Amino acid sequence: MLNVSAPGPWSRVTTDTQIGQPVEIRGGWGGQVNDEIVRAQWNRVRGRLRDEFGEATFKSWLNPLSLDVVHGGQVRIGVPTRFLRDWVATHYGDRIRALWSKENAEVSGIDIVVMPNREKVAETAAGADAPAAARLPAAPATAEPVNVADDISAALDPRYTFDNFVVGKPNEFAHAAARRVAESDTVSFNPLFLYGGVGLGKTHLMHAVAWHIRERNPGRSVIYLSAEKFMYRFVRAIRFQDTMAFKDQFRSVDVLMIDDVQFMGGKDSTQEEFFHTFNALADQGRQIIISADKSPSDLQGMEERLRSRLGCGLVADIHATTYELRLGIIASKAEQMAVDVPRKVAEFLAHKITSNVRELEGALNRVVAHAQLVGRDITLESTQEVLHDLLRANDRRITIEEIQKKVAEHFNIRTSDMHSTRRARQVARPRQVAMYLAKQLTSRSLPEIGRKFGGRDHTTVMHAVKKVEELRGVDSSFAEDVELLRRMLEN
Ligand code: ADP
Ligand code: MG
Repeated sequence: MLNVSAPGPWSRVTTDTQIGQPVEIRGGWGGQVNDEIVRAQWNRVRGRLRDEFGEATFKSWLNPLSLDVVHGGQVRIGVPTRFLRDWVATHYGDRIRALWSKENAEVSGIDIVVMPNREKVAETAAGADAPAAARLPAAPATAEPVNVADDISAALDPRYTFDNFVVGKPNEFAHAAARRVAESDTVSFNPLFLYGGVGLGKTHLMHAVAWHIRERNPGRSVIYLSAEKFMYRFVRAIRFQDTMAFKDQFRSVDVLMIDDVQFMGGKDSTQEEFFHTFNALADQGRQIIISADKSPSDLQGMEERLRSRLGCGLVADIHATTYELRLGIIASKAEQMAVDVPRKVAEFLAHKITSNVRELEGALNRVVAHAQLVGRDITLESTQEVLHDLLRANDRRITIEEIQKKVAEHFNIRTSDMHSTRRARQVARPRQVAMYLAKQLTSRSLPEIGRKFGGRDHTTVMHAVKKVEELRGVDSSFAEDVELLRRMLEN
């Protein structure tokens, strides 16, 4: 792989191309060593990438890149893991090369190589003299301070950090808002209201804010708890005639986070108490962060004044995941688990498990656990087998009827032609495409699919699948058509 001690025309320099991660690079090409120039060029390339792809994408995928060496017209770039290497190479490789070539006409290609130890080295090297804001967060588990908040705050999941949160279009805004709250000492919007469907990362983001604040400023008391816990404590306080202590506790915190406030719906006395707590904290300039499954105005059984109070800060919603985000999350989780998930399997999962991140994660865990148990590599076949039940459940979203309708519309034929015996090419081809998509997008068996297409035999379906695959290989506009249809059906 990489020969760091190789003698050659390269000189050793230290650069801080990654924030807080000074790494050693060797710069220069063709014996004409010029570290300063190399470093400046790399910084400009990074700047361009950040501008072009946006802060969120940059942070998730491009920030971990480190410049290793420029030599013989090749730029060698290090990444910490194989997953990242594959991802960066397929998604950003061409662009990185183009930007480098623009910076320096001598550069003709880039190598992206795995340098697993680099991160660790860099972390230790960051040392105490790196600026606090730029330093990498320490492992949360060791950073947890002892303070009054521990009394009432629920435990925080050490995996739910900003580092482990994959940012994409659907959660970009919520993520940016959460980061802003975590990083600023003054209250910029109150409350921050995060909402979105189940399993899309609301709790993860809240924990991430809590970890970040606790680590940066152990003196601030941060309380995170579910609305249910809040209610429970309140009810108990009433029972034990201890409401004064309850009020004092909650009103002395710096940051209060209440997760899943929809559960307060219909609980009038708890809402009342929460409303007063909220006002007391807000009046003192303390930060409040709320999550729910709906926007403030859509919350059921909430008193109007509370609803409007909840909506008066910044309201950020997390949208359903996209294919791209799901793929990114799989890559990230696989990396955390240090397992090798073939690209095909990752793509398959991202295509099939579309409900939410929690389910996606669960599916990946099952696949990994199974592979480790039987001591075999993860393959597409084993994945399909292990997730059989789950895939069927997710499938219900796309029906064969839907596929037939969309495909017929697309090719401008009648839906009834999907069942007919007409063999004319302009009808037969779309029918084959629909069969192919039915095989791809549902987990129906070949005979089942055949039945839905006017009672055809399973060998006819098999033939259709083969034919479409063959055509996709030779006819790029046909391939595009099929891909477009697939996308339309999946969204
Ligand atoms: P919610 O609170 O919205 O129901 P969670 O925060 O509990 O969802 O997320 C469900 C699971 O999915 C968690 O394990 C979380 O770590 C994971 N998850 C959700 N979104 C992301 C993301 N963008 N990146 C990484 N993991 C995520
Ligand atoms: Mg949650």
